[in-house]
Amino acid sequence: MKIYRFAHNGTVSYGVADGTSIRRLKEEQPFGSLATTGRAFPMDDVEILCPVSPGKIVGVGRNYLAHAHELGNEVPREPLLFLKPPSSVIGPGDEVFLPSISKQVDYEGELAIVVGTNCRDIDQDDWRDYVLGFTCANDVTARDLQKKDGQFTRAKGFDTFCPLGPCIETELDPSDLGIRTRRNGEVVQEGRTSLMIVPVGGLLAFISTIMTLDPGDVILTGTPAGVGPLSDGDEVEVEIEGIGTLLSPVVG
Ligand code: MG
Repeated sequence: MKIYRFAHNGTVSYGVADGTSIRRLKEEQPFGSLATTGRAFPMDDVEILCPVSPGKIVGVGRNYLAHAHELGNEVPREPLLFLKPPSSVIGPGDEVFLPSISKQVDYEGELAIVVGTNCRDIDQDDWRDYVLGFTCANDVTARDLQKKDGQFTRAKGFDTFCPLGPCIETELDPSDLGIRTRRNGEVVQEGRTSLMIVPVGGLLAFISTIMTLDPGDVILTGTPAGVGPLSDGDEVEVEIEGIGTLLSPVVG
């Protein structure tokens, strides 16, 4: 099932896709019942918004071997975690702004986990009980500042550096999905989630031993090889099999 957050005549709601229309949910949030009101809106008549407002965004670095190697990095012995602030989140079609203090801002197409219920110290085999679904993410990164700072907060924390969307797919096996990033229509990243070093269950189990994950929190599961720079006027798209395509115009 594909969950969308959308605006129609100034009203923001959640809904589930039903062919070419969206049926509004009875609840204001998608973390409980997904029962619908019966009110349906044609997709073309609504504005699709960011599907989630995370309290925290946990990123995982170097979770694909080929990407770790392309940046000359060792593969970490345990998942390498960082946080992106909620203020970095934007929705589908929203612009990524390039900050003037960086000379190299890269795209990183990634599968994002959307947490559905509180989790703490979970067993990796039980991950499905805690996940609402999956969406597409772009872990936009100021590569020069990441190298200069030796940590990730500034490089990954700028406003607009976390596009998410277009929907949350709730019925997806994340173990072997195609991930493709296009810059101005040209394919620049092409990977599969089967190449993750630590898969979805292992990441949730590891992270939940450190911090309690709450409904709406987002985990960025790492990027495959092929990262590269963005320029003013570019359009970057992250497409994940079974979810859809997240498009972001780039300005700055
Ligand atoms: Mg990343």
